[in-house]
Amino acid sequence: MENVIQIKNLEKKYDDFTLKNINLDIPKGVIMGFIGKNGAGKTTTIKIILDIIKKYSGEVKIFGCSEVEDKEKLKEDIGVVLDDMFFPELLTANDINAIMKSIFKKWDEKLFYSYLKNFDLPRNKQIKTFSEGMHKKLEIITALSHHPKLLILDEPTTGLDPIARREVLDLFQEFMQNEENTIFLSTHITTDLEKIADYITFIDNGEILFTKPCRELLEDWAIVKCKSKDLEKIAIEDRIRYIKEKYDVEVLISNKKEFKKKYDFGVIDKITLEELMLLIIKGVKEC
Ligand code: ADP
Repeated sequence: MENVIQIKNLEKKYDDFTLKNINLDIPKGVIMGFIGKNGAGKTTTIKIILDIIKKYSGEVKIFGCSEVEDKEKLKEDIGVVLDDMFFPELLTANDINAIMKSIFKKWDEKLFYSYLKNFDLPRNKQIKTFSEGMHKKLEIITALSHHPKLLILDEPTTGLDPIARREVLDLFQEFMQNEENTIFLSTHITTDLEKIADYITFIDNGEILFTKPCRELLEDWAIVKCKSKDLEKIAIEDRIRYIKEKYDVEVLISNKKEFKKKYDFGVIDKITLEELMLLIIKGVKEC
């Protein structure tokens, strides 16, 4: 499978934070969700991929290119939404259209205006009158209107109400109807990813803990609830993390079928990405 993004041994040091040995391959045609708590290193990784942050060690390739000059040429093929990217407040959507038309060869005015209509965004009102959600929607449809092959999105659904979130997720899925297209998106709203992501990459404290198929995490991984006294009966390699309550314990496991075969106690519950994130961050790790 062709990798659209390849990151090898990436390191970036700030005074109080280090991205450590990041290795990540994102194949063409998938939605890769990037999760981790605030301050885990998601935005820094994304900004390095986009060459917004330039000083780092390691290698970052997009569409096989690692040179900054070559990557410049690829901008046409990459749609971007950043958490701290803002359109100038005095502009209108009409102005954005005019500007983007001069920047992107493949800018699709008709598509942009049809998105504006579908999302109830005004053409002539200054962006300063937009709510946070309207602003976000404008950023997303702008990123999509030059027909990119790769979308890189940092927290794209923050500030959107549930209906707008659904509409935006539908747009992403529509984008993925073209098998050549790829999405890399970071979010702390993990329920969004449960609906659309093919893979999940989990970053914690500047380190990637794993990249796994989303379906595997939601279907094979699980939480086992049992009495504290039963914890020791579970082999160390079977308990990825655990959290002890007063009498009970919650254990994160990675293969519920195997667990059922091997052990005859405990209540096995389905897991959400949010619960999984919590258990990995807060739970006890033994191996
Ligand atoms: P996330 O997107 O997962 O919330 P970030 O990548 O924004 O995390 O931040 C990771 C860490 O790097 C945080 O501790 C943040 O304070 C630190 N950091 C980010 N940018 C800078 C900077 N320009 N200078 C120093 N520290 C920074």
